[in-house]
Amino acid sequence: MALIKCDECGKEKSSAAKACPHCGKSRDHISSGVVWFAIAGVIVFFVAMAVMG
Ligand SMILES: [Zn+2]
Repeated sequence: MALIKCDECGKEKSSAAKACPHCGKSRDHISSGVVWFAIAGVIVFFVAMAVMG
């Protein structure tokens, strides 16, 4: 765990923190959400194929 500078307010925040504790800016919230959405879509697709045969 390391301290990095916030892109929004320039204050130091933990690299492990999802959002800046000073301004609430989340750096990777959108990209990680897209990744999980894609993974969930793939899982749903394969489950649907298995159920329908
Ligand atoms: Zn900030």
